[in-house]
Amino acid sequence: MVDYGIKIWGNDDFIIKNGEVCLSAGSQPSIIKIVKQIREDGIRGPLLLRFPHLIKKQINSIYTHFKQAQKEFNYKGEFHAVYPLKVNQFPNFVQNLVEIGKDYGYGLEAGSKAELILAMALNTNHSPITVNGFKDDEMIDLGFIAAEMGHNITLTIEGLNELEGIIQTAIDRFAPKPKIGLRIRLHSSGTGIWAKSGGINSKFGLTSTELIQAVKMLKEANLLEQFTMIHFHIGSQITEIAPLKKALREAGNIYAELRKMGAVNLKAINLGGGLAVEYSQYKNDQRRNYTLNEYANDVVYLLKDISNQKNEIEPDIYIESGRYVAASHAVLIAPVLELFSHEYTESKLELKGKNPQLVEEMYDLYTSMNSKNALEYLHDAIDHMESLLTLFDLGYVDLQDRSNTEILVNLVIKKAVDILGGKHYSEILNIQERVQERYLVNFSIFQSLPDFWGINQTFPIMPLDRLTEHPTRSASLWDITCDSDGEIGFNVKNPLFLHDVDVEEREYFIGFFLVGAYQEVLGMKHNLFTHPTEATIKLTKEGYEIENLLEAQSILDILEDLDYDIKEVQYSLSQKIEESEFLSDKEKKQVLGELYTFLNDNSYLKTVSKKDTTDEIVYKESEILHKSD
Ligand SMILES: *Cc1c(COP(=O)(O)O)cnc(C)c1O
Repeated sequence: MVDYGIKIWGNDDFIIKNGEVCLSAGSQPSIIKIVKQIREDGIRGPLLLRFPHLIKKQINSIYTHFKQAQKEFNYKGEFHAVYPLKVNQFPNFVQNLVEIGKDYGYGLEAGSKAELILAMALNTNHSPITVNGFKDDEMIDLGFIAAEMGHNITLTIEGLNELEGIIQTAIDRFAPKPKIGLRIRLHSSGTGIWAKSGGINSKFGLTSTELIQAVKMLKEANLLEQFTMIHFHIGSQITEIAPLKKALREAGNIYAELRKMGAVNLKAINLGGGLAVEYSQYKNDQRRNYTLNEYANDVVYLLKDISNQKNEIEPDIYIESGRYVAASHAVLIAPVLELFSHEYTESKLELKGKNPQLVEEMYDLYTSMNSKNALEYLHDAIDHMESLLTLFDLGYVDLQDRSNTEILVNLVIKKAVDILGGKHYSEILNIQERVQERYLVNFSIFQSLPDFWGINQTFPIMPLDRLTEHPTRSASLWDITCDSDGEIGFNVKNPLFLHDVDVEEREYFIGFFLVGAYQEVLGMKHNLFTHPTEATIKLTKEGYEIENLLEAQSILDILEDLDYDIKEVQYSLSQKIEESEFLSDKEKKQVLGELYTFLNDNSYLKTVSKKDTTDEIVYKESEILHKSD
């Protein structure tokens, strides 16, 4: 059985049971059963499922591990965590997170005015709010308003001009005032694609000279007692622990130095985010070389060590991990619309009375293949295919011969893979790389996996069922945008195999896991494909409940978002139909009705397999397969 690396990336959140991917919690419901239940109401296209129990699991694991580490090292500072809103601001995620976080005192981090407003509205009054990012006077005002409302808020300063703004605002506004944090610029930085946030050339933070200046300014303005926290963030998805330890040493010493300069209320170090998620499905490609347990122990131990050495109090620890909290809660499920080689069946072969020699030979290879000669015949067939394609280019064989060649080579590969089972794996792999199966999948990579498109971040991908059957096809996944970048190609180093399925006979769904962090908010409406239909799945003792089903935006909605006057669009459409000289009045009425239905539906494709009984419009695949570059 192939488990698609579920033990590597799955975090014990998902298990395989009876050949289906299931949640590991509660009554362990099968994801495909949930999907099918939602589709019973006519929902089609990609579906994003949210699992609040996984949000809770992640929040709980952060607090548990840090509490344990505090206990183990007899640490005297407190531990606090906040959720950085930029990672995912969708209400059905954030509202659940705030509700779950209440019991932990879990707070929110904001990086813009809009996020700050959200934090002020949603945060429970005792939980901390931290504010990072560049601030203008308005944002500073908002921070003061939050404090006046009773929020426990810390404004972290990215530059001295912000501090000037705060000092000025403090004169004008009421008490209580927000706490002040200083973002420090470290010379250590993280690793990996997101390392830019740290380091001496980073976009953010105060240099040593500026820190000294800041303390002076605060003293002069009588605001030094508001200065409570230093902050750093060495980047997202920190793959190794070593850079973090280096950063902690640096930050710990800055903390101690600033206290010695008179910052008596400086009591907290905020480590920012960066806790990594294991996205890899392959042992040789793992992306995280530490556990949360190790991370928590290192942080607590190092900060204790430095403050003891420097004879300062042990600081409160704040973390702002977002990816770690949000990633696992969302799973994107997309139906496969077609396998491109599906037409390569024996019945499609149209051999002539007299075929080119090589085609004849290929046919023999196919029919006489057995377990002894399979590999050899496979090689021969691929060679023959390449010769035949060259012959076609030179004009020696015709289109029918070429079609027969394509069919035969696919038949040979499928038969060889079947016969050989798992044997000669690397050989087969090389051949499979050359002759891949292309799966057309009903989703948009630009909308739902933007980090794959933008920075080659991979996500765990697996079918939701048939997991007792050996997958035999080397898969490249094509989305339905008209963009050649909308493809997840087959990668021999980390190969994805899927099943050879006839989707007209039986539906086949692909799950994309760990998509809860960043993907939804970075997703873009390329080709006007919108955020997919989503639902929140609450596990109960007996099963699950489907809540907050929110359908993908309709075509009218998305046009309105782009600031089209949709009344005008609708008017223009109906006017054109009205004026059509081809249609009778009765036909016009029908066409208008159809158009109206389309306008109020989303852009994703709607296909149903033959066995599906819903009476929806069925598009023929041939009509939807016009991908251009
Ligand atoms: C982005 C960001 C975070 C969250 O980082 P993750 O890698 O998602 O944990 C935390 N703090 C700051 C200041 C950030 O910019």
